[in-house]
Amino acid sequence: MAQARASLYGRIRECTGCLLHRTRTNAVPGEGPMPADVMFVGEAPGMHEDRQGRPFVGAAGNFLTELIGEAGWRREDVYICNVLKCRPPGNRDPLPAEIEACNDFLEEQIALVDPLLIVSLGRYSMARYFPNAKISRVHGQHRVIDDRYFVPMFHPAAALHQANLRQTIVEDFRKLPALLEQARTLRKPADEGPVSEPEQMRLFD
Ligand code: URA
Repeated sequence: MAQARASLYGRIRECTGCLLHRTRTNAVPGEGPMPADVMFVGEAPGMHEDRQGRPFVGAAGNFLTELIGEAGWRREDVYICNVLKCRPPGNRDPLPAEIEACNDFLEEQIALVDPLLIVSLGRYSMARYFPNAKISRVHGQHRVIDDRYFVPMFHPAAALHQANLRQTIVEDFRKLPALLEQARTLRKPADEGPVSEPEQMRLFD
């Protein structure tokens, strides 16, 4: 596992698959244990992340660490990464070609982390699974994809300065431990009973 991680992070740090490599200071592969029960996927590195080569280390990152605490977890026990591994200049929105260029890295990361629960932070990481879903409608609700739970959340940066969103995201994070326990049942051995069909088949419209 350590070797697979080193190989992946090395390829991310050397990647020239889109133009963002020209303006980055550091690529930001992600951090946390592999495997891990819980994986957070944000949007893209900002200025602080670009400088340090670590995900979610600015103001939004501090809030994310607080939110992980609201779920009763420790930041070092979960895996944290972004859809894009390099900072878009001026923190502009990711471009479709950039998301496409980074997609294989995220796929590889998901395979290595093999999480029971994937929490997307913001629109761009939600859109990877559910391009037409509205975050204001589906935040905090889980869906089952293959043998994982997927839960879209508001981005901590958006919630940081809006009192009503802040309370909403705190409440959504507090629901995560129960969802993780439910997600564990998806991988129970067959003799412990099957997963209910309706749950497996529910998807965002
Ligand atoms: N916002 C993100 O989406 N990711 C980071 O790493 C930092 C801020």
